[in-house]
Amino acid sequence: QCRLLRGLAGALLTLLCMGLLSLRYQSRPSPQGVQEPPGPSQPSPAPRELRLHDVFIAVKTTRAFHHSRLDLLLDTWVSRIRQQTYIFTDSPDEGLQERLGPHLVVTNCSTEHSHPALSCKMAAEFDAFLASGLSWFCHVDDDNYVNPWALLRLLRAFPATLDVYVGRPSLNRPIRASEPQAPNRTRLVQFWFATGGAGFCINRKLALKMAPWASGSRFRDTSALIRLPDDCTVGYIVECKLGGRLHPSPLFHSHLETLQLLRAAQLPEQVTLSYGVFEGKLNVIKLPGPFSPEEDPSRFRSLHCLLYPDTPWCPQLVVQ
Ligand code: UDP
Ligand code: MN
Repeated sequence: QCRLLRGLAGALLTLLCMGLLSLRYQSRPSPQGVQEPPGPSQPSPAPRELRLHDVFIAVKTTRAFHHSRLDLLLDTWVSRIRQQTYIFTDSPDEGLQERLGPHLVVTNCSTEHSHPALSCKMAAEFDAFLASGLSWFCHVDDDNYVNPWALLRLLRAFPATLDVYVGRPSLNRPIRASEPQAPNRTRLVQFWFATGGAGFCINRKLALKMAPWASGSRFRDTSALIRLPDDCTVGYIVECKLGGRLHPSPLFHSHLETLQLLRAAQLPEQVTLSYGVFEGKLNVIKLPGPFSPEEDPSRFRSLHCLLYPDTPWCPQLVVQ
């Protein structure tokens, strides 16, 4: 009985204190001198500005590209944002493991270029992001160049209250899929998706809502259900399952577009770039140097020297 009374007294005291505190908050004028409307919510601290340390970057690769593609990335942009970057592959590699430590993730996914194999890697990326506790998930392919500062500028522009899925739409219209319904029926759905080959980002708020369709083995199940690849599956979950939408950004680039069309002055603003072969010709960004096309066929090394001229292997400007 005595403990109960003491408890009651304690509770009354706490309530009194909370009341006084909330009175103090409500009567404090805002910086503009205007009284804030009384509300039930506690004043929230000002949101902290996003930093690169809050971003998780997942790179998808496969055994065949450990050297031909990854070396270039490790020498260039990955070297500038190492702590935030995780490489997802399908085969162990001692040399890479030594270089990357826990930033190399060897999945159990197959080395095939099939929908299930690619979805398996996307699922591993998504799960690792959820476990990381970081604020943004960005996926890129191993033929992408990521400009960390341009990425940060883009992500900072989104209010923290929004669910965000941002990237380059793959098509100029929504894609259609048929969603099996029980029993023996299908529903036609359409949605926008960001092309995986240009990279895309999702904030944690949205990623948590996606988990019932995207975490663990569920991503592969969802992808198999609509019979579409991993990047389409992400769009399907966001738009058809959650009622969200793709926020289109022209700052992400894959080698499915004519990369030569980008002017040199625009290059430092782009979030991602790419290179590849299209109709038998090399599809790369246009940069005069400092490296020749023979030395630097992807142009990524030349771009890296433009963005980070202090890199030791970049030709140093001689000041007279
Ligand atoms: N990839 C993979 N397994 C494969 C083939 C490719 O994980 O068997 C990855 C590759 O490392 C890259 C992405 O899938 O990150 C796209 O591959 P690629 O650029 O060769 O093809 P694209 O679809 O761009 O033509
Ligand atoms: Mn590619």
